[in-house]
Amino acid sequence: MTAAAKVVIVGSGIIGASTALACQDLGAEVIVVDQGPLGGVASANSFGWINASFAETQAYFDLRNAALESFRTLGQRLELQAHVSWPGTLWWEDAGQDFEAQFASLTARGYGARRLDHDEIAALEPNLRACPAHALFTPMEGAAQAQSVAQSLLAHVARRGGQLCPEREVTAVRSSPGAGHIVQTNAGDLPCDFVILATGAAACRGLAGVEWALPMANKRGMILQTRPVQTRIHHILMTPDVHFRQNPDGSLVAGEIFSGDLDPSEDASALADTVIARICQKLRGQPDVQLAEVKLGERPVPLDGLPVVGSVPGAPGVFLAVMHSGVTLGPLIGQLLAQEILQGSPSPLLSSFRASRFAQA
Ligand SMILES: Cc1cc2nc3c(=O)[nH]c(=O)nc-3n(C[C@H](O)[C@H](O)[C@H](O)COP(=O)(O)OP(=O)(O)OC[C@H]3O[C@@H](n4cnc5c(N)ncnc54)[C@H](O)[C@@H]3O)c2cc1C
Repeated sequence: MTAAAKVVIVGSGIIGASTALACQDLGAEVIVVDQGPLGGVASANSFGWINASFAETQAYFDLRNAALESFRTLGQRLELQAHVSWPGTLWWEDAGQDFEAQFASLTARGYGARRLDHDEIAALEPNLRACPAHALFTPMEGAAQAQSVAQSLLAHVARRGGQLCPEREVTAVRSSPGAGHIVQTNAGDLPCDFVILATGAAACRGLAGVEWALPMANKRGMILQTRPVQTRIHHILMTPDVHFRQNPDGSLVAGEIFSGDLDPSEDASALADTVIARICQKLRGQPDVQLAEVKLGERPVPLDGLPVVGSVPGAPGVFLAVMHSGVTLGPLIGQLLAQEILQGSPSPLLSSFRASRFAQA
């Protein structure tokens, strides 16, 4: 009997956790190391919209679209319903030509978006004070509390014998030809066969021993969490000046600019008040919407905005998985990367997302 491959995953956010679970599913012995608490950084500060509605290229759409099904399957398998829901999205962020272009693009891609009129929207969202004339309805989309999902996946990994190492910083990766790798940490060395870097926004800083760092253009974002609100909304709502959704406990999760960059000089507390006021304006009655938490996060964004998944140039046995929309993509990326590393079967879905596109530039 051959020994199980040993994989060290650096980073315990949704990408690291999903990848650890998938590697373990394929028989690997896994160790997850994080310099902070388990569950990730961007993953803890995310809006958590699971969607394929916005994809600059067909390859990116195909990846995201496939990811929806992976997330659903994983959610059912691990009974993640406390942290993941599939309410669908009502989108009217843009109007006029931009709205029509978005509808045409989704329709051409066979995504199943429906164009709803005012009365149809009002029927779906009776607590909206002023419904728009039109919205796009994408019923297949969902939302996740990504940190909780990551923690649930990691708990499952641990129950099956995986090793979790929070509060332990990886300081270097050393390779010796034919003898695997040594992952150096501030609490000792971890020998392994493969290393997976799922370090999110920190990937731009590179790692000693890996002579290549991903060029990145990380962006700041702000997400609000409110206390539970009695007024119910039933979908993920993407409006021109705020996007928000409701967790199963009634709390609202909201943001102002989707995937944009928050100006560092912006007064976060004032912006949070503005976002809350915009939500109140949109809901019937006088809902008591109280702020519970303002989260300022960094979006991990590779320089061209697209995911980077696969082997690190010039570092055999070392792999990277860094992306924005990592909540949407996490479960699928974990599976594809595990298959590539442990079964030698790279997926065509990943062929446009290799790090080599930067290495060649
Ligand atoms: C405001 C905001 C809104 C977003 N909205 C959405 C959305 O609606 N839908 C969507 O799909 N995506 C969204 N995203 C993006 C999504 O949250 C991220 O793509 C995803 O969480 C990335 O997960 P990750 O596991 O790669 O990174 P993280 O969750 O950041 O995890 C990386 C981990 O690596 C650890 N680490 C780093 N360096 C080291 C080291 N040297 N040693 C040990 N550990 C290390 C960190 O401590 C961290 O825990 C949003 C992001 C933000 C910030």
